[in-house]
Amino acid sequence: MNYDYLVVGAGLFGAAFARQMTDAGKKVLVIEKRDHIAGNVYTEEIEGIQVHRYGAHIFHTSDQEIWDYVNRFADFNRYTNSPVANYHGNLYSLPFNMYTFNRMWGVTTPQEAETIISHQRQAAGITQPRNLEEQAISLVGTDIYEKLIKGYTEKQWGRPCTELPAFIIRRLPVRFTFDNNYFNDRYQGIPMGGYTQMVANMLEGIEVRLEEDYLRNKQMWDETARKVIYTGPVDAYFHNCYGPLSYRSIRFETEVLDTPNFQGNAVINYTDRETPYTRIIEHKWFEFGTQPKTVISREYSLEACPGAEPYYPVNDETNNTLYQKYRELALNEPKTLFGGRLGEYRYYDMDKVLYSALELAKKEISTEDI
Ligand code: UDP
Repeated sequence: MNYDYLVVGAGLFGAAFARQMTDAGKKVLVIEKRDHIAGNVYTEEIEGIQVHRYGAHIFHTSDQEIWDYVNRFADFNRYTNSPVANYHGNLYSLPFNMYTFNRMWGVTTPQEAETIISHQRQAAGITQPRNLEEQAISLVGTDIYEKLIKGYTEKQWGRPCTELPAFIIRRLPVRFTFDNNYFNDRYQGIPMGGYTQMVANMLEGIEVRLEEDYLRNKQMWDETARKVIYTGPVDAYFHNCYGPLSYRSIRFETEVLDTPNFQGNAVINYTDRETPYTRIIEHKWFEFGTQPKTVISREYSLEACPGAEPYYPVNDETNNTLYQKYRELALNEPKTLFGGRLGEYRYYDMDKVLYSALELAKKEISTEDI
């Protein structure tokens, strides 16, 4: 046993946990299956632009401790996410706010917008929303649901909105003010120089081995450390013994274009059913880029399968029930702890991942001290 902790996965959870335990005097080894650190927040520079290779990541939090923590490893710019929805060529502001309501119905006051939404909610007869469709109609009415939510959501999740949990749509603010900020959090921004550099700073002085597949050689790796922190998919850890959990994956089509400005915004969502991709990211706008070229990525959503990496847990009832069975097994693993989006099968944002990693580290440090 050469190490106190073996951390499997060099994403945000693994990097934060490794940092904390190293700073507490523990000997930590991080192993990573891919050929790079930073997991799905990985960014790489193309034409002087930080490209979010695994999809757009905008850091936002209301937690002072987490904001202070990330600022130890990166300077953040003042980017504010304000995606635009494209429905059959018509553009609408996101999240759902007075600009959206004005474009949709021509209304100019909050009262007018609230009246329309209230009528549409009543006409649909929804009192207690039981799924994403009912929740969406209850929040913003049927017009917005049909044009800005239904198509996007069914492409994104590959399931009807009636079979999806309501919490997914509650991620988005609904406000009766003129405010296109996608998040309500106190702090928001993108690390200048990219997420990869930020994670590299977190991992400074810590041994990291890339292209090492833990599960392929589990016994050998387990013998290297007293404890293991596993941040991969929890079902894969147990050889899918209860059957596989569902995850959504994304296929990216990334292009370098010889134009300084392709779409005028970092994120444009294609909310109709007919457009095969869910959104186009123009990476330079995350950092107010002035480069002569631009890099764009079209995102195509698909079910995760061998060859298509998991990105989003599908936290519907069936999968959550199945996950509970894996969780029981996980809790009984003698020296392994599970963390992160895949290890805990939760649709975590980055700040929540960090919070959870810091909490686990605190717990480990306090029990080790006893
Ligand atoms: N969503 C939608 N229309 C949009 C953007 C989002 O219906 O234009 C819904 C969709 O169901 C999505 C959810 O809101 O899965 C959460 O969106 P968010 O932007 O938080 O997703 P992420 O960036 O994590 O993919």
